Amino acid sequence: METRIGFGWDSHVFKAGVPLRLGGLSLDHPEGLAGHSDGDVLLHALTDALLGAVAAGDIGSFFPPGDPRWKDADSAIFLNLAMEELEHADFRIVNVDTTLILAAPKIGPIAGQMRARVADLLNLGIDQVSIKAKTPEGLNLDHVAQCHAVALVERVIEPDDLKSMSDVIESQRQLEDVVEDLLASVHGVPKKRGESVYDTEDIT
Ligand code: MG
Repeated sequence: METRIGFGWDSHVFKAGVPLRLGGLSLDHPEGLAGHSDGDVLLHALTDALLGAVAAGDIGSFFPPGDPRWKDADSAIFLNLAMEELEHADFRIVNVDTTLILAAPKIGPIAGQMRARVADLLNLGIDQVSIKAKTPEGLNLDHVAQCHAVALVERVIEPDDLKSMSDVIESQRQLEDVVEDLLASVHGVPKKRGESVYDTEDIT
């Protein structure tokens, strides 16, 4: 099974008077993340991880930051685009893992809800989505939220692919039969299905 991995990272600055969107959730917090879109660092990092897994570019190449169409946009739109690119490349997600780095709010109490939301957006089971969080200890970046994300993806095997694989196996089996018949006729060894005709003691 062909698997590939993708990595994504993003950061946005906290700003008063902006609603906080994180992991696809609206959170009650005095500050939100400033950005051209809704500033959801987690969904942006995940979008880049998925695009990266199939080498399909990055979020900025699909959604230029200056484009008025994406002003205050719901970042689920970006994630959907990445999922379409993945599907187009015949891959599906095995699992995603993320680490948020921010001073506040505390993610622990809402991590389960956030995992469920992200799993929903990605059409995955909750066990395929991991959300972890750390404080920016020693970084002097309490005014910033960052997120790292990785995604493992695997190639989707279509029923048609399975059919052609079984056709190859069948033709290999037929070829082996022909070789066995040929060797048996050359060396006069009576063919017994399942017994090797390559046994030197038998044919010399
Ligand atoms: Mg961003």
